Amino acid sequence: GPAPESCEAALQWIAARQGKFDHFIDGDWTKPQSKKWFESRNPATGEPLAKIAAGNTKDVDAAVAAARKAQKGWSALGGPARARFLYALARAIQRNARLLAVLETLDNGKPVRETRDIDIPLVARHFYHHAGWAQLQEQEFAEFEPMGVIGQIIPWNFPLLMLAWKIASAIAAGNTVILKPAEYTSLTALCFAEICKDVGLPAGVVNIVTGDGKTGEALVKHPDIDKIAFTGSTDVGRRIRSVTAGSGKHLTLELGGKSPFIVFEDADLDSAVEGVVDAIWFNQGQVCCAGSRLLLQEGIAERMIAKLQKRMETLRVGDPLDKSIDMGAIVDPVQLETITSLVGKGAEEGGIVWQPECKLPTAGCFYPPTLISNVAPAATVAQAEIFGPVIVSMTFRTPDEAVAIANNTRYGLAASVWSENINLALDIAPKLDCGVVWINSTNQFDAACGFGGNRESGYGREGGHEGMMEVLKPNFLSKLQLSKDA
Ligand code: NAD
Repeated sequence: GPAPESCEAALQWIAARQGKFDHFIDGDWTKPQSKKWFESRNPATGEPLAKIAAGNTKDVDAAVAAARKAQKGWSALGGPARARFLYALARAIQRNARLLAVLETLDNGKPVRETRDIDIPLVARHFYHHAGWAQLQEQEFAEFEPMGVIGQIIPWNFPLLMLAWKIASAIAAGNTVILKPAEYTSLTALCFAEICKDVGLPAGVVNIVTGDGKTGEALVKHPDIDKIAFTGSTDVGRRIRSVTAGSGKHLTLELGGKSPFIVFEDADLDSAVEGVVDAIWFNQGQVCCAGSRLLLQEGIAERMIAKLQKRMETLRVGDPLDKSIDMGAIVDPVQLETITSLVGKGAEEGGIVWQPECKLPTAGCFYPPTLISNVAPAATVAQAEIFGPVIVSMTFRTPDEAVAIANNTRYGLAASVWSENINLALDIAPKLDCGVVWINSTNQFDAACGFGGNRESGYGREGGHEGMMEVLKPNFLSKLQLSKDA
C-alpha cells in the first residue's frame, strides 16, 4: 500500500512552539492565569503530544472583554468587508491543509485519509460558503443584526470542523466569539488562531480559550455573553441549559444521537453494506449522527448480516497515518473503556456480539469493528449512545414497525433509509422524528444545509440560511415593521 503520511512537518510545527500552547486572546498569545498547562496525548501511541493552557475564569474574563471590545467595530465593517476576511481564512486553510490534516490525526487518532479528504476540505468549504452570506448580509438580513458576543464549546470528534461550523457563521454575521475546544483536541484550533493572525483578522474577533469542562462552565456563566452555542453530549447540554436558564442568554445545543439505519427488503444490499461501513465505521463511529442502529426487514436480515460480516473482515484497523487503514484510534482510554463496558452490557442483555478477526496495534487506544445482533429495541445498547465502532441490529416486519422502532429513543438527530422504492422512502422520511434523513446514502454534510437535531439531540441548526438565523437577532427595522403592521 501507499507509504504512511509523514508527520514530521506537524511535529516540527509543535516543536517550534516548544510544545507548549497559550490561549489566543485579543489577537495575541496569552499565558494562562493559572500558570498551568495540561498534557494532550496522541491516542494512537499514548505518547504526549503537547502542553495546552488550562483556562480559568480570569482567562475567560479577558477573552470576553476582548470580544466585547471588538464587536461593534467588526459589525460596523459591513458584510462585504467581513467576507474578504472569511475568503482569506478559507484560502489559508487550503494552503495549510496538509499540516492541519496531520495535526488533527495526531491529536484525535482519526485516519489521515479522512482528515485529508473530508474534515479539512469541509472546513475550507464552510468558510467559503459563509463568506457568501457575509457578502449578502445587508440584502438578505436587512432586518437583523448580530447577537453580539458568542461563547462556543465544541467536542473532540471533529475538532476543526466543529470549530468551522461555529465560527464561520458567527463572524460572517458580525459577532465576535470565544471558542473553547475539547480538552483532548485543542491543536488545530490553536493552528487556526495562528491563521487568524496571519490573515490579519482584527484582534478580539476570534478568541480561543483552552481547558476542560470547568473552563467551559466559566464561559457559560459569564454575564457579558449574549449567546452560548454548544456541541457535545446530552448530559452536558442539559447542564448548560439549566445553568443558563433565566440569564437571558440565547442558547443552541447540538447533542448526541442514536440514529437508525433502515434497510427494506427491496434495497440494493451491496450498496447498503457500504452505507453501513460509512455510517458506523467512519471516524471509528465517534460521529453524532452515526447510523448506530441497524433496522433490517425480516426477509433480508440474515442475508444482510452475512454480507456485512464478510465486509467487516476486510476492514483494517491501525496507525491513522497509514493511508490504507479504514479505522484509526479511539480518542482516549476513558472513551475506550466506555465502549468496552457497553458492549459487555449488550452481551449480558442477550445480544450476539460479533467481531472479525482483526489485528490491533499493541500500543494506543484501538477497538475492532463490532456488530451486536439479536438486540431488543429496549436494550441498553439499543438506547444509549455508544460513540464507538459498534452497530446494533434488530428486525422489523412492516414500514410502520420500522418507523416505531426508529423513533423509539430519546434522540432525534439523523436517519438513513434504504429502498429501491422511492415512494416508500419518501413516505417513511417525514415520519422519522429527526433533523435529517438520508435516502440510500448517509453522513452527507453540506455547508448550505442546516444540520441539527430534535428532542434530546438538541435544538438549533448549523449551516446555510437556517444556521445564519441562529446568530442574528431582529434589529430596529424589524421593530418599525411591526409597529406599522399594528
Ligand atoms: P462532552 O459533552 O463531554 O464535551 C463537549 C465539550 O463541553 C468539551 O469541550 C468539554 O470540555 C465541555 N464541557 C464539559 N463539561 C462542561 C460544562 N459543565 N460546562 C461547559 N462545558 C463543558 O462531549 P464529548 O465527549 O466531547 O463529545 C461527544 C458528544 O458530542 C457525543 O454525545 C456526540 O453525539 C456529541 N456531538 C454532537 C454533534 C451534533 O452536531 N449534534 C456533533 C458532534 C458531537
